[in-house]
Amino acid sequence: MSSKPSSLTFKLVLLGDGRVGKTSLVLRYVNNVFCEKQQATVQASYLTKRLVIEGVPITLAIWDTAGQERFHALGPIYYRDADAALLVYDIMDNDSFIRVRNWVKELQQMASKAIIMAIAANKSDLVRAKKFDVQEAESYATSIGAKFFVTSAKVGTGIDEVFLDIATRVLQKKISSEGLSPTRPRKGMLIIDDEPEKEPQMKCCS
Ligand code: GDP
Ligand code: MG
Repeated sequence: MSSKPSSLTFKLVLLGDGRVGKTSLVLRYVNNVFCEKQQATVQASYLTKRLVIEGVPITLAIWDTAGQERFHALGPIYYRDADAALLVYDIMDNDSFIRVRNWVKELQQMASKAIIMAIAANKSDLVRAKKFDVQEAESYATSIGAKFFVTSAKVGTGIDEVFLDIATRVLQKKISSEGLSPTRPRKGMLIIDDEPEKEPQMKCCS
């Protein structure tokens, strides 16, 4: 028997146009690295991150696209059983913000309508004098029940906050809607034994 505590696994999917910084956000959060020349992901992949929220051990399985987002061809497996979605756009590229709406539409068709969502305005380090014009994005986020964050994978702004917020809201939802008790997880919930640390499948360009 494993001596390690069991943990709940939450599936989080990254969505957004190509080059907005999805892979960079994940790599910054999980491995604390950033690559100026991050290459388009070649394989659909996920990384896991363990965290403890209010004493509850959680494993976040973070799914990143394989670059198929450029053809809007993510496919059902990507979305299947997702607990949460992080929608990313590039703060310098208004078109990528406009297209967040398309990603939300696709998400709501492919996953549960009640899925937990957050929107990240990424690459905030590129905005001079920290003058963000994010009012429209903030009100859009509110209108769809998503939380809004300003992030920079490059300098690390907002990264822990966005992932922690998502994991916390998924946990709260599971506690309230599925009767999950933090101390005694309900039978039938996805409970896994903690596995040994895996080699990251997504590598920083070197
Ligand atoms: P993805 O296609 O959405 O996964 O985007 P990537 O993570 O591959 O990033 C695309 C490009 O944007 C790469 O050259 C990254 O180095 C760059 N990038 C990603 N995040 C940031 C950021 O926060 N700030 C800056 N300045 N560049 C970033
Ligand atoms: Mg990528």
